Amino acid sequence: MNCPKCHHEDTKVTDTRMSSDGMIIRRRRECIRCAFRFSTMEEPAILELTVIKRDGRREPYGREKLVAGLRKAFERRPITSEELQRTVAAIERDIQLLRKPEVRSTEIGDLVLRHLRKADEVAYVRFASVYESFNDLRSFREVLDALERRKSPRTRTARRRAADA
Ligand SMILES: [Zn+2]
Repeated sequence: MNCPKCHHEDTKVTDTRMSSDGMIIRRRRECIRCAFRFSTMEEPAILELTVIKRDGRREPYGREKLVAGLRKAFERRPITSEELQRTVAAIERDIQLLRKPEVRSTEIGDLVLRHLRKADEVAYVRFASVYESFNDLRSFREVLDALERRKSPRTRTARRRAADA
């Protein structure tokens, strides 16, 4: 990033902020030679890939869809915009690691679920419940049951004893 005043090549970043929707990164910079201060607005690098939807239609990958889905899942949950942005970045990194020019929407959904499971159980269940692959009620129940088992092994044992009695 060249200094707009003296065109020196080296500038240092003094502050980095994310817009609340996580779509724009604002960096404050300072020229190492003339100390001129300026800011830049950057979009995080856009993934160039095609998403194959469940009905077979293809569309270009759009970060805004991922952000919107996560926002919904994290509604009224304690998460900062930086944390949301980090989650988006981590999911996109995993998508990139698939190293495919075309990715199925279900693959993206699975990656989202994997990250949400670690980050926030409520957000995880919310996303799972609207996630396309859970359109059959049984698999959604299985997810809920698995969560339940992990959370309260005692309750389950107690319930089983009650059933045995
Ligand atoms: Zn300068």
